[in-house]
Amino acid sequence: MLIVMRHGATAGQIDTVVRAIEEMGYQARPMPGKQRTTVGLVGNDGKVDASRLAGLDGVLDIIHVSQPYKQVSREWKSESTIVRLPGGLTIGGEDIVVMAGPCSVESESQIIETARAVRDAGAAVLRGGAFKPRTSPYAFQGLGKKGLELLKKAREETGLLIVTEVIEPEAVDMVAEVADILQVGARNMQNFALLKRVGRAKKPVLLKRGIAATITELLLSAEYLLAEGNDQVVLCERGVRGFDPATRNVFDLTAVPLVHNLSHLPIIADPSHATGLRDKVTPMARAAVAAGADGLLIEVHPHPEKALSDGAQSLTPEQFAELMRQVRAIAEVIGRRVAEPAGV
Ligand code: PEP
Ligand code: MN
Repeated sequence: MLIVMRHGATAGQIDTVVRAIEEMGYQARPMPGKQRTTVGLVGNDGKVDASRLAGLDGVLDIIHVSQPYKQVSREWKSESTIVRLPGGLTIGGEDIVVMAGPCSVESESQIIETARAVRDAGAAVLRGGAFKPRTSPYAFQGLGKKGLELLKKAREETGLLIVTEVIEPEAVDMVAEVADILQVGARNMQNFALLKRVGRAKKPVLLKRGIAATITELLLSAEYLLAEGNDQVVLCERGVRGFDPATRNVFDLTAVPLVHNLSHLPIIADPSHATGLRDKVTPMARAAVAAGADGLLIEVHPHPEKALSDGAQSLTPEQFAELMRQVRAIAEVIGRRVAEPAGV
């Protein structure tokens, strides 16, 4: 619920509303705006009796947020959220931010070579998993802490920002020491203990849609992060499970304009996991940008045939450079531009 204060409401009147909300057993989130202050009421899972608040001095209007998610909704906040990264990079504004790199960090030479290649092609963020959530317990699980150290080295060498996945609450602080963006993967989209812990980390979060999650469920998972006080959240469409094994997943690009309507949070797209097929990644990256995605997550490997995970969907550095050329052209047509790496 939102309590809209009159233009010129005094600090004392706003404070009275905040205290009344707290006495009712909820939390109050005052949001000063250009025209007037709005006080958000959080902590309710249903309709709240607003009569006590409606009569308070300075209250202009009470708005009931109709969606089950509150703070992530456009009803709650009409302006788009801009996620701010070190070096001045932003996600959610005019720029399209491309994050690229291998599925997993495998060795120093692999990650440094990939980092240089994707940077030269114009990616702004290096991706790479140090901790990998794998379907099989016998599959490569990632280099762990060593992988994080290699990512740190790659950032020092190239200046690229780092996005890397965190798979358990206990590891959040360790991963956040290296990551500029904490990735919560599809398999963990509803790991609520992890979401709560990541929501308390003071780092931007990339939240990927679960393989069988509805848009409402994705937004409710994002709500966990905002409820813990972290609004620096980027959503990611990475395909959902379909009935046809012709592609790894079904790339639900409608999610992009849908999320832009329902939420103020930015959404990027991952055509690598969505298709699972190297030669389908570039056309679907073009489509994602055309659909309005605020960025792309692309798997790139210097020798995809030797990759320890997701080689079949990884682009070579040359293919990635061509993808960037094509995506820049599409961005221009829709009045956007691909963000340059920091320091360029
Ligand atoms: C990944 O980005 O490598 C990954 C594991 O993706 P997802 O969580 O979307 O499967
Ligand atoms: Mn992968």
